[in-house]
Amino acid sequence: MAILITGGLGYIGSHLALNLLENNYEVVILDNLSKSDISVYHNLKQLSPNNRPYFYRGDIADLKILKSILLYHNIETVFHLAGYKSVKESFKRQEIYYDNNVNKSIILIEYLVDRGVKNFIFSSTATVYAPSEEILTENSPIGPISTYGATKYMTEQFLEKLYQKHSDLNITILRYFNPIGEHPSGLLKDTGEDNLYPNIRKCIANNTALSVYGNDYPTPDGTCIRDYINIEKLIEYHALFIKKQGFDIFNVGTGIGKSVLEIIAEFPDLKYNIEPRRSGDVSSLVCSISKLQEYQWSI
Ligand code: NAD
Repeated sequence: MAILITGGLGYIGSHLALNLLENNYEVVILDNLSKSDISVYHNLKQLSPNNRPYFYRGDIADLKILKSILLYHNIETVFHLAGYKSVKESFKRQEIYYDNNVNKSIILIEYLVDRGVKNFIFSSTATVYAPSEEILTENSPIGPISTYGATKYMTEQFLEKLYQKHSDLNITILRYFNPIGEHPSGLLKDTGEDNLYPNIRKCIANNTALSVYGNDYPTPDGTCIRDYINIEKLIEYHALFIKKQGFDIFNVGTGIGKSVLEIIAEFPDLKYNIEPRRSGDVSSLVCSISKLQEYQWSI
């Protein structure tokens, strides 16, 4: 049995690939390197010398590549992570975000379903929810305020409709909150420009000040609150869904929120400047993980 990871050379995909390789799965990575670097593939081979990943450089909507992947590997499960993830960029490049995140996901998944692949796990995001100070459950109101969030929700809806047509499929949607951290080797990294931790790392390395976007949010210290989940924990959860039957949606976070200033306090040497709010940011994004934990304990 082989597992296909789209976007498998990105931040989360590469950590997932390593975890699956370490658990002896045959791992096939499809990535067009639009937001990652080939060095990550070499790093994965170095980190898992006895069970190396297969790598196909190409687009998720390139049917020729998909055909070869299916010819050479018995793909049973697909983790679909490929996509663009910057809230900021999504406002400037709306069409590109819809094309890459929605249209291409549809092309990929329809092609694979037509050829008998049945198990899909889709990486979605907390930004699909409507802004709210409340703890978010999977039933909280939907209302993305960024193009990025809208594209991920459209793909979720496509998957839900697909399941209504093909009830023999198994589809899990994972709404990640804020993944942080990286492999201790330093060989797999988060390079996301919008993400807090890579920016903190950059500022410490260059001795520059971190930009904090807004301190007038309705939160105790005025800065945004997020639910930061360590990458190792996030990846551990993925294994639970490889054999999950039916259609379902899960929040993946910790259930605990921290403000930007609380995070900054963890780095005593870090300087920061308060800047105006950034469009697309909501004041608080914290989830309930009751559903995830109930599922985890039930298996
Ligand atoms: P990333 O940008 O590090 O990785 C995405 C990978 O997908 C990159 O390697 C990129 O080259 C590849 N890719 C993009 N479009 C492609 C295409 N058309 N064909 C083939 N490859 C393509 O992102 P990440 O942080 O690893 O996130 C992975 C997934 O998780 C994304 O779908 C993202 O929306 C979702 N997510 C991430 C976060 C986060 O904070 N990192 C939070 C919530 C959800």
